[in-house]
Amino acid sequence: MSGVKRHKYIFVIGGVMSGVGKGIASSSIGLLLQAKGFSVNLVKVDPYLNVDAGTMNPTEHGEVFVLNSGLETDQDMGNYERFLNRDLSSEDYMTSGQVYLTVLKKERALEYKGKCVEAIPHVTEEIRHRFIRSAEVSGSDITVVEIGGTVGDYQNMMFIEAARILNLKNPDDVAFILVSYLPVPGNIGEMKTKPTQNAVRQLNSYGVQPDIIIARSATPLDAKRKEKLSISCSVPEENVISAPDISSIYDVPINFEKEKMGEILLKTLRLTTRVKKDGLTTWKKFASSAHGATEEVKIAVVGKYFDSGDFVLSDAYLSVIEALKISAYKVGRKPKLTWVNSKEFEKGTKEVSMLKEFDGILVPGGFGESGIEGILLAIRFARENKIPYFGLCYGMQLACIEYARNVLGLAEATTTEIDSKTTHPIIDIMPEQKKHMAEGKFGATMRLGAYPCEVKPNTTAFDAYSDPGSYKLTAKSYKLISERHRHRYEVNPEYITQLEKAGLVFSGKSPDGVLMEIAELPKKVHPFFLGTQFHPELQARPLAPHPLFTAFLRAAIGQTKGK
Ligand code: GLN
Repeated sequence: MSGVKRHKYIFVIGGVMSGVGKGIASSSIGLLLQAKGFSVNLVKVDPYLNVDAGTMNPTEHGEVFVLNSGLETDQDMGNYERFLNRDLSSEDYMTSGQVYLTVLKKERALEYKGKCVEAIPHVTEEIRHRFIRSAEVSGSDITVVEIGGTVGDYQNMMFIEAARILNLKNPDDVAFILVSYLPVPGNIGEMKTKPTQNAVRQLNSYGVQPDIIIARSATPLDAKRKEKLSISCSVPEENVISAPDISSIYDVPINFEKEKMGEILLKTLRLTTRVKKDGLTTWKKFASSAHGATEEVKIAVVGKYFDSGDFVLSDAYLSVIEALKISAYKVGRKPKLTWVNSKEFEKGTKEVSMLKEFDGILVPGGFGESGIEGILLAIRFARENKIPYFGLCYGMQLACIEYARNVLGLAEATTTEIDSKTTHPIIDIMPEQKKHMAEGKFGATMRLGAYPCEVKPNTTAFDAYSDPGSYKLTAKSYKLISERHRHRYEVNPEYITQLEKAGLVFSGKSPDGVLMEIAELPKKVHPFFLGTQFHPELQARPLAPHPLFTAFLRAAIGQTKGK
């Protein structure tokens, strides 16, 4: 680093148990610091050995969030980008797999100059350098690092150790926050502090003392428990932040601020605020819109996984859900999302006509054969009954297949992902992908990350992207957009003319005209029937709702009114 500007670091570590909202707490901390006038980047540390999140099943590990760079990361990165309203880079995500891969490559290249390579110091130094690199690349004032897992886990010890050393070298520039949980056992009915005391003790045994404790619980923390935690954990009373359960994640920063979290963070990092006014005003306005709407907009999300429980799905499709919520608030509606299992349409346990109850139908991204015929039935129903339809990635590919089958009359139309020998490969593997598959190279080899797309004038997509409130579009450049991708297959160039002649409009194409990025039906034929090869949900943000989601929901409301 330059040495002129002193970079600050905050490490967020979990205590007691996982799943208590460490990601949202970290995102909120980032937002509060932004509101005090500082630029912030957030870093996620995932202690597993996968090199990235791309090889993991989303129903078990949550959504794979793709960055502009194309790195496949953890869903928390999506929360960070949504709260900070900024793009994050590959340096803002790290896994044990990445760290070990680098260390081992260095060892093979004799970069350790004959030394015995060990976890300590070589792995911890690699981690510490990665923390510093992420700060440098981001150009921000403060880096907030969320360490995955819980204190006491074997897997995240190296990361905590690297943070401890960073603190040792820069004691004025590093803060530690423990996000803990205070249970209220049913038979006792009293909030218990002991697990948190033990978590702090465990952290102390690593040589780390938390500066702040975020006390997650079902209800607010009372004065007695604040005092108890303060004394037993050696944390000033005002640094014990009460963080009760709340209905909207977007209220978390506002609640933290009520506890003076922003000021406490600055004091801990020896900083003073750079703003005179309340920097959270815009956020507060957005957060209150989440409570304002009473009238519902009913969206059916149709897919194959949807027999695995709502809890799993809310993680697997996190960005889709948030994108829908954000745009629903923008159009003044309360989103009501219903998961519809497409396999039920195939088995006949549910009639596809049940979809007429909804204002809009969305098919998210996906892979493989399972549940596809049911999804195709749903898309046909949406098209023929003029129910607004929005297809994301696979949802766009399947809309093209449905059109080829039922409008062009190509009954065997499908994707080579399902049937490599089909007579009508409407969707086909991209040439460079064939090689990866043949060589068994699955990790990080899809078409990933941000690519430009040209949007055709006088189309639904063009209108949506020209919306003045749209994200990062300027009056001059609105024809060229940038969206994030994650796919191996594409609309087969050999079928484009036929599909177009039959009425399907490719309103978005790669600038060289080769890849079909957006497919839609004209407004005079259908109120909203649009699919994207990219994943627009990855760029939907509270303070910059995604124009296509907003346009979809506007169409959905229009239909409600017309009913
Ligand atoms: N399975 C499709 C492909 O690989 C779609 C991927 C997706 O929906 N993300 O092209």
